[in-house]
Amino acid sequence: MTDSIRDLLHSVADRAATYLETQDERGVAPSEAAIQRLSELDEALPDAPTAPEKVLAMLDEIGSPATVTTSGRRFFGFVIGGSVPAALAANWMAGVWDQNAGLRVASPIAAKTEDVALAWLLDLLKLPSTAAGAFVTGATMANFTALAAARHAVLSKAGWDVESDGLFGAPNIHVVVGEEAHPTLFRSLSLLGLGHQRVTKVAVDEQGRMRADALPKLSGPTIVCTQAGNVNSGGFDPIGEIVQKAHEAGAWVHVDGAFGLWASATPNRAHLTKGVGEADSWATDAHKWLNVPYDSGLAFVRDPEALRAALRLTAAYLPQSDIREPSQFTPELSRRARGVEVWAALRSMGRSGMADLIERNCRYATRFADGLQAAGYTILNAVVLNQVVVTFGDAEMNKRVIAGIQEDGTCWCGPTVWRGQSAMRISVSSWATTEADVEQSLAAILRVAAGVKVH
Ligand SMILES: *Cc1c(COP(=O)(O)O)cnc(C)c1O
Repeated sequence: MTDSIRDLLHSVADRAATYLETQDERGVAPSEAAIQRLSELDEALPDAPTAPEKVLAMLDEIGSPATVTTSGRRFFGFVIGGSVPAALAANWMAGVWDQNAGLRVASPIAAKTEDVALAWLLDLLKLPSTAAGAFVTGATMANFTALAAARHAVLSKAGWDVESDGLFGAPNIHVVVGEEAHPTLFRSLSLLGLGHQRVTKVAVDEQGRMRADALPKLSGPTIVCTQAGNVNSGGFDPIGEIVQKAHEAGAWVHVDGAFGLWASATPNRAHLTKGVGEADSWATDAHKWLNVPYDSGLAFVRDPEALRAALRLTAAYLPQSDIREPSQFTPELSRRARGVEVWAALRSMGRSGMADLIERNCRYATRFADGLQAAGYTILNAVVLNQVVVTFGDAEMNKRVIAGIQEDGTCWCGPTVWRGQSAMRISVSSWATTEADVEQSLAAILRVAAGVKVH
């Protein structure tokens, strides 16, 4: 190795540490000036090479101030999660390795970390130990991957080979979803040729949970898509009840548990996840509550053959073996080694660390809700997990308060619409958030809200 590469990597480490150390000095959102400065990147493609140190300096000096500190302690927008230190370090190591995780022969370590992490995940999430797993980009692709297995299975049972013959002339598939399914689930359905319009939408209750008593009559090839963790309320569909009804009719049950599935990692939330392990497939995000760097999603399928068959390659030019060949379980062939970070996060936190992360985040969400309610604002959801939906008044009021919070910079929260009502959403999902951060953020939110005049 040349000294210059060592110097370059040291320089990255220094700059990265400074970025993390100074996150409190920056607002959570970048300043207008920092965003303006991005125009310095609008230059013509250089004719000549540039030294890597110079490229890195540009990225850090122009780029770092223009990041949103989503990896920080007081970012409560969307459900983003941070990066636990071991996962961040593993991400760097894997970057240096530059492995292609698609093939065991191309990266024994990438395949091994997937094997080990997969077994741990099935255990932690209380899913069948023999289920297959796929390491993909996010929950959108995880839903897509799991639903491809579902599509295969229900059509295969009806005597149709969808991988060979497509959907033209295929038996009808009845797709059932809750009215409050995540928007990306509909995208997965349309990519699979299942359509997002022709589905049966089941009525939900006031927490956005599918009503098991409102399920339509199920028969023939059927896929029921349930949700563990509504992105606004955090509510869980009554999955146990739905599975029972669906399985009686021979239907496949899928669970979109992008963040909610992680509730299975703590005994205290077992009431929410009842029956989840009885389903046929599951999707979740490691980049959300497991706190690994972006991007990282996971699909699990009870019947490994259904997943393998859905993703089979038409030409067997790849090595065949009895041990798990990673590319047989994902839509992609070449891809980065996401298993490395997932393994590192689980290895460093362990069972108790993971349960503690979930519990702390949920406790902080409750604290936010209590503090806001005590100040006279209305909490629109039952805070069962890490999500709080609050309204400060009407739509205009919410808009001004949210803008004020984002400008203040202490923390970051975004707008949402819940059951037709404008609101602000608080999602607590980072390992790094402390009780002090919650108090500081709550104080900032209350200060901003009190300062916004009713128009
Ligand atoms: C975040 C989320 C998704 C989409 O996940 P990506 O990782 O952004 O693709 C799907 N479903 C639910 C319930 C989510 O919360």
